[in-house]
Amino acid sequence: MNVRVRFAPSPTGFLHVGGARTALYNWLFARHHKGTFIIRIEDTDEARSTDESMNAIISGLGWLGLNWDEGPLADNPSKETGPAGPYFQMARGEIYREHLDLLLKTGHAYPCFCSKEDLEQMRNKALLLKKPPKYDERCRHLSEKEREEKLNSKASHVFRLARPLKGEVQFEDVVKGSLRFDNELLDDFVIMKSSGVPTFMFAGAVDDHLMKITHVIRGDDHLSNTPRQIQIYDALGWKEKPVFAHISMIHGPDGARLSKRHGATAVEEFRRLGYLPEVMLNYLALLGWSTSDSQQLFDPKDNFKELVEKFELERCQKSPAVFDMEKLKWMNGVYIRKFSKTELLDRCWPFLKEAGLVNEEGNEAEKDYLRDALSLEQEKMVLLSEAPGLVDFFVKDEVVFAPEAVEKVLKKETAPMVLAEILKIFSGLPSLTAENTEKACRDLAAKEGLKNGDVFHPVRVSVSGRTKGPSLFHMLEVMGKDRVLKRIQQVLHGNYGKT
Ligand code: GLU
Repeated sequence: MNVRVRFAPSPTGFLHVGGARTALYNWLFARHHKGTFIIRIEDTDEARSTDESMNAIISGLGWLGLNWDEGPLADNPSKETGPAGPYFQMARGEIYREHLDLLLKTGHAYPCFCSKEDLEQMRNKALLLKKPPKYDERCRHLSEKEREEKLNSKASHVFRLARPLKGEVQFEDVVKGSLRFDNELLDDFVIMKSSGVPTFMFAGAVDDHLMKITHVIRGDDHLSNTPRQIQIYDALGWKEKPVFAHISMIHGPDGARLSKRHGATAVEEFRRLGYLPEVMLNYLALLGWSTSDSQQLFDPKDNFKELVEKFELERCQKSPAVFDMEKLKWMNGVYIRKFSKTELLDRCWPFLKEAGLVNEEGNEAEKDYLRDALSLEQEKMVLLSEAPGLVDFFVKDEVVFAPEAVEKVLKKETAPMVLAEILKIFSGLPSLTAENTEKACRDLAAKEGLKNGDVFHPVRVSVSGRTKGPSLFHMLEVMGKDRVLKRIQQVLHGNYGKT
């Protein structure tokens, strides 16, 4: 079968991790089956759709590495590519109109002239009778003459689907299993608004058919739309329906649907916080899906080839997935630790730039220095955004001294003597290495009858301004002799810089 799937965002906000996961499952499924992945922009909510949101969604998908075959162009979303377009619903007005006409001709749709007040009354009445509020089908029963008259008088109207009143809609959902919906309990829902713009329900079904979508993979918040969309298929005489797979929602640790109060929810926010796109992808894949041996980490090589091969829709879970920020952080650290020195610098570069620690491009010497400095911190780095705070003292001309480091370490009685001695010893070394600096410090401590810490600590604070940091002797090696000597001299001159 030639698999064709789509991710169909409404451009009314940012790319939520839930949306990103839906896109990812569609992408994985398409790539697994060597099928086609389509992006369709569902912009029929004219009041809320914006270009800004569409651009944010497209750039979020691009950042995650989810490439698509048809739809808006990744680098110029106002243009599009593919044989089944337009891929923007607002550019498909005529298509919906034609299909509405077909439904009207066959008696599967009718104009409804009910006002807001009429609908409100209907609702109240149903609530009084303790019945589920729904449209009472009064315009379905208008005579041909009444309908003509109202249309001729240009009365405002919407169009509703004349659904079958008996029987049921039945379908097999790949994730949820066999589902049935009683037609009588459904309603004659609106398919076209009074503005002539189709509802999401109508446009989506028409497009899925015309775009030859074989599998509709979406969040289970759309589950109640599916019987209605199947009714549209039936009304239009379309026998072949897509396979449906409704994936469970993402919840926060408290069991409520993931929302802003749980923390970051926008893909863009995760990017800014310093998460890696491949970690987001790996992590989101596991939010509602697993392999039989619960594999946690997938090789990102060749566009996540391993994950693509292993992904099966049938293994999606029915119950909600819980977003676990700690696990995401853990995974980010794991991926960061696998980087080469060069890769680590490249990934941290935008964050260093934003913090003003590097210039636009940076020169080679500066890059080598930062590459070495960052690699000293690689073991403990969890988020890329930590990079500036971890290495700023390597780069800044003036050391910023933490007040407690000055108090506890530099003001200690033995500190000036230790630093003066170390300055002399380091000056005599051809260059500073982790080995020779460690030996020098240990020897001095032994000679003066001091604890190692009485030597190590003032040296560390002198060059970094703080009491904690990477391995001291590796840090000295990376900083280099000139810088280290200059910094120790400064402290010996009582110049503790800014605190
Ligand atoms: N536009 C819908 C949404 O953003 C998706 C519809 C669908 O996947 O069928 O929720």
